[in-house]
Amino acid sequence: MNRIAHLMAGAELPQPSGPFTDAEALELLMAYRRDPSNVPCPTCGPEQIEVLAFIEPEIDSDGFASMTEPEGDYAAALYCHRCQRAIGILAGAVYGD
Ligand SMILES: [Zn+2]
Repeated sequence: MNRIAHLMAGAELPQPSGPFTDAEALELLMAYRRDPSNVPCPTCGPEQIEVLAFIEPEIDSDGFASMTEPEGDYAAALYCHRCQRAIGILAGAVYGD
């Protein structure tokens, strides 16, 4: 299983090679919800982001997330190949509009 708890929690440090910032995370979320097949990186632009996996929105207490299907409430693990940052976004119907 992928260990991605740190991705879900790590969106604070505004460093180019660090995690995505909260603002970037929101941009990614909005882009994903608009078109999951076309999510540009806020820093690097389009065609850099890969969806690595779909995971359960709830992380186990031991920090592991289970793989799931992209239906209902789920999170998507995104990775930018250019700035090499990764993030988990809640892609299902969790966020209010
Ligand atoms: Zn990037």
